[in-house]
Amino acid sequence: MAELDELQKSLAGSVIDPASAEFDAARRCFNAAVDRRPAVIVRCLGSGDVATAFDYARSHGLEVAVRGGGHNPAGHCAIDDGLVIDLSAMRRVDVDAAAGIARADGGSTWLDFDEATQAFGLVTPGGVVGSTGVCGLTLGGGIGHLTAQHGLTCDNLIGAELVTPDGSVVQAGPDENPQLLWALRGGGGNFGVATRLDFRVHPLQRVVGGRLEYRGDRVRDVLRLFQDVAARSPRDLSCQAVLSLDESLTPALLIAPCLTGSDTDADLDALRSAPGLVSDDVRERTFLEQQRVFDSPYGENRHYWKGHFVHELPDDLIDELLARVIAFGRPPCHVLIESLHGSPKDADGDFSALAYRRAAFNVSAMAVWADGGDDAEHVEWARSTAAAIEPWSLGGGYVNYMQADEPIERVRAAFGDAAFDRLQALKTQFDPTNVLRRNQNIPPR
Ligand SMILES: Cc1cc2nc3c(=O)[nH]c(=O)nc-3n(C[C@H](O)[C@H](O)[C@H](O)COP(=O)(O)OP(=O)(O)OC[C@H]3O[C@@H](n4cnc5c(N)ncnc54)[C@H](O)[C@@H]3O)c2cc1C
Repeated sequence: MAELDELQKSLAGSVIDPASAEFDAARRCFNAAVDRRPAVIVRCLGSGDVATAFDYARSHGLEVAVRGGGHNPAGHCAIDDGLVIDLSAMRRVDVDAAAGIARADGGSTWLDFDEATQAFGLVTPGGVVGSTGVCGLTLGGGIGHLTAQHGLTCDNLIGAELVTPDGSVVQAGPDENPQLLWALRGGGGNFGVATRLDFRVHPLQRVVGGRLEYRGDRVRDVLRLFQDVAARSPRDLSCQAVLSLDESLTPALLIAPCLTGSDTDADLDALRSAPGLVSDDVRERTFLEQQRVFDSPYGENRHYWKGHFVHELPDDLIDELLARVIAFGRPPCHVLIESLHGSPKDADGDFSALAYRRAAFNVSAMAVWADGGDDAEHVEWARSTAAAIEPWSLGGGYVNYMQADEPIERVRAAFGDAAFDRLQALKTQFDPTNVLRRNQNIPPR
């Protein structure tokens, strides 16, 4: 088409349309339940291309989606009949070790980032699956293997370059648009397309990590121990738990600890000697090895996730979660329990928009299945399990795990009323017509 040829001539990157050989790969999402056909995908190579893509979308009346790592379970990176701003070819990460800063391009993945920073023995806390996008994860908060040690990923965000929907290039940092930097620490992709994010990096001497797997009835007791360990708030030990059933429908628990520092740790020793342990591959490893402890096949399974940040993980809630996993009886559906102990509690409301850092845990029902004919029962399981968690809820869910059907009240609750109002004012300033609405949306006023 002549118009697309013209668009191509004005880009450093490339135009991918439905006739292109790469089209199907380029529109694919992590969640196989999302199958959308954009009118055009603009694979950008810099901020100029992003501005051109916005301009083309505006002049052709196309709705816009933004693709970073393509992992969002809601499938926000793809859109039927619209234009996708695809950043997947912008993956450079520069490390200034002397200044303690890493700068990541808008489409970098955590694997790109960790390889670059680990070459200097440095880290920023990211997610636990290497192919997830740095920007998408950071803009929604970011929980991972180093959360207790260094806080949420967005707590380490110190600067950004954005292209706003009118094509302007805007810097955010302590000295320039500090309010925008505040908003980017959790407020999502609402304000512009990030072509670069700057992070504080930290030295990392040693990691002891891996997987502890438990089976059988004692899983309940180990989850209690997990809760006790997190409540003691050890800053050098992050940990996450996954409650599920194995193929023989026996209760299964996976705990993924990540211990840093030079000492042994009594809490980790207690987890390693807990009853029901069937597998222990915890050992000293590189951080890049630790980042491969979890994996999840891309674009193969259907997903529906829903959860709550909770004040505590009392016995009643543990029993409820276990009963729901057993009653549904369909692995690989599971409940992910991420601890927010330690450093996330250091920041206050003036530092970032997020209210959920006060929570003890993020508890998410994650339905995972293969056959489209099974959609209804899996979605219902995730929804009803999330409803069962609600009595312990802080009031909001994790924007990074939300599906597209979440009501605005849940997004608002992730920030609290006052922060949400501030975010709305900034949205009105940087995206007054809500061009960037394919996200956990903060509508302009
Ligand atoms: C297998 C898997 C593992 C995960 N692990 C973790 C984890 O350990 N910790 C955690 O906190 N979360 C985790 N997540 C959730 C993840 O953080 C979010 O789904 C996040 O939105 C993914 O970002 P992405 O760039 O990969 O996704 P995409 O689908 O490409 O983007 C999602 C949205 O993020 C925004 N966005 C992305 N890039 C940009 C950009 N450069 N500028 C502006 N907006 C942008 C856009 O609104 C976009 O629609 C995981 C998800 C999956 C599927």
